[in-house]
Amino acid sequence: MQIRFETFLTMRKKLIVANWKMHKMPEQARHFVHDLLPIVKDHHRDEIVLCPTFICLPAVIAALSGSHIGTGSQDMHWEKEGAYTGEISAHMLRGLGCSHVIIGHSERRQYFGETDDTVNRKLKSALAAGLQPIVCVGEVLAEREAGLTEQVLRQQCTVCFRGIASIETAPLVVAYEPVWAIGTGKTATPKMAADAHRVIRIEATRAFGDEAAQALRILYGGSVKPENANALMSETEIDGALVGGASLDPKSFAAIVRW
Ligand code: PEP
Repeated sequence: MQIRFETFLTMRKKLIVANWKMHKMPEQARHFVHDLLPIVKDHHRDEIVLCPTFICLPAVIAALSGSHIGTGSQDMHWEKEGAYTGEISAHMLRGLGCSHVIIGHSERRQYFGETDDTVNRKLKSALAAGLQPIVCVGEVLAEREAGLTEQVLRQQCTVCFRGIASIETAPLVVAYEPVWAIGTGKTATPKMAADAHRVIRIEATRAFGDEAAQALRILYGGSVKPENANALMSETEIDGALVGGASLDPKSFAAIVRW
């Protein structure tokens, strides 16, 4: 049993994802890639993904072509096509050349009515289209202070993972992002993050079985910076990082990648 568990741990290559949110024009995105590539060109220990705005996707995909860095979208719609003004589907993102998609970011939940149910629909659609989904979960400050973190994470995972067969989950990534740590400069301690990751993995075991859950990568997100990346990434339970503010500058993002 121990050997099998260790095997899965070695398979969980860390993944460092840049979430640029609503920042950068295509020209700035091209400059970013131009500056980043030489710094990380020999870095194969961790996987790297950039998630720009929709309008920057073509520029970033083109600039990264031939490199080992993936491109992801920050959101998607669950339908393949139709009368959904302003939306973009998983199928379209895949056709454009995206490899990943962030689903259920707390800013989508807070400002745009995203729910665990819509996350579940998007997740199914992303997997069907061949995208690698990065599903975000996490508690708000009041929930943590009320001792509800575990309950909130369990509820989010139960709904988000509903109706997905374990065979489909190989590309799935989950990001634990305590909402109180996003863009605030406050970071969860490595222990807080590792504890939350264990809860998520237990829920993944319930939903997908032991093998799939042990192979599932769980990232931490929330004020990750060059100064705290090493302590966080050194935790066995933390399989990578989703980075907002500190991913906007190529040197700062590269320093996190090279933790
Ligand atoms: C995020 O956008 O997912 C995030 C974690 O932001 P920040 O790193 O700025 O806290």
